[in-house]
Amino acid sequence: MFVPMKNIVDAAYAGKYGVPAVPSNDEVQIRAAIQAAVESRSPLIFLTNNRKDPHFTHYMIKRFADEVDVPVASCLDHSRTFEDCVLGVSSGCSAIMADRSTLPYEENVADVLRLAQIAHAVGVSIEAELGHVGQGDNYAVDGVSALTDPEEAKRFIADTGVDCLAVAVGTAHGAYVGTPKIDFERLKEIDAACQHPLVLHGGSGSGEDNIHRCCELGVAKVNVVNDVMRLTLEGLKNTDLSGNKAYGLYAAINDITVNIVKHLFEVTGSVGKAASCCCGSKNSASEGNPFDSTKE
Ligand SMILES: [Zn+2]
Repeated sequence: MFVPMKNIVDAAYAGKYGVPAVPSNDEVQIRAAIQAAVESRSPLIFLTNNRKDPHFTHYMIKRFADEVDVPVASCLDHSRTFEDCVLGVSSGCSAIMADRSTLPYEENVADVLRLAQIAHAVGVSIEAELGHVGQGDNYAVDGVSALTDPEEAKRFIADTGVDCLAVAVGTAHGAYVGTPKIDFERLKEIDAACQHPLVLHGGSGSGEDNIHRCCELGVAKVNVVNDVMRLTLEGLKNTDLSGNKAYGLYAAINDITVNIVKHLFEVTGSVGKAASCCCGSKNSASEGNPFDSTKE
């Protein structure tokens, strides 16, 4: 079932496990990840980056999600403009990630607060970022700069009302050049100060033990797009698709993706947690009798 991302991250935070956030590039990838979620009885989060036609991607996710009995959310990832965020809200996703992490604190708060009010008004969840998660191919610099301050994170959540917060604790986006070093002490301090679901961007390649430990320290959503893409490619390279076996290309992608995502559920600890999510209505404004006009 298609649910607000808040339902999934709240339950994950309370249960001290994380939920993988995986890519949603096409029908095959979306169906395979949902199949994995059903077989593992796990909640699932999709990240969407289709800026050309996000409505179509979210339509597919919602349609397939509503055919199964595990909670599924979709989050428009790294929306960096007001227009992009509002497009996300209107496109049928169940969360937006409003990324203002390169702005000064006050500007980040002002933008995210405004977007949180818009998103929440129609039952869409919102994630923001404080500190800045950089790029893995510039890890020597990005891995240690702009890390999240625990007290500032606490203030940011109170100032904006975001449903979850992406924090910079030593991970980076994409493939790493160098070995990722996660600042667990900082993460522990952020968790103690915030008591709110946290998000780990750049989870790919950061080490399974590290991810598991992060999920015990408040991380409720782990972005692992690069892992899914890279391992899919590796799986295909190891698959014999010669001659007429080429007809099996998409079936192979499906099977490889199912296995990757099922493994990610094990890494984050979300196997069997589907029932722990409270799966309420996506839009609280639609609850009750829609034709009740007696209050006019
Ligand atoms: Zn990210």
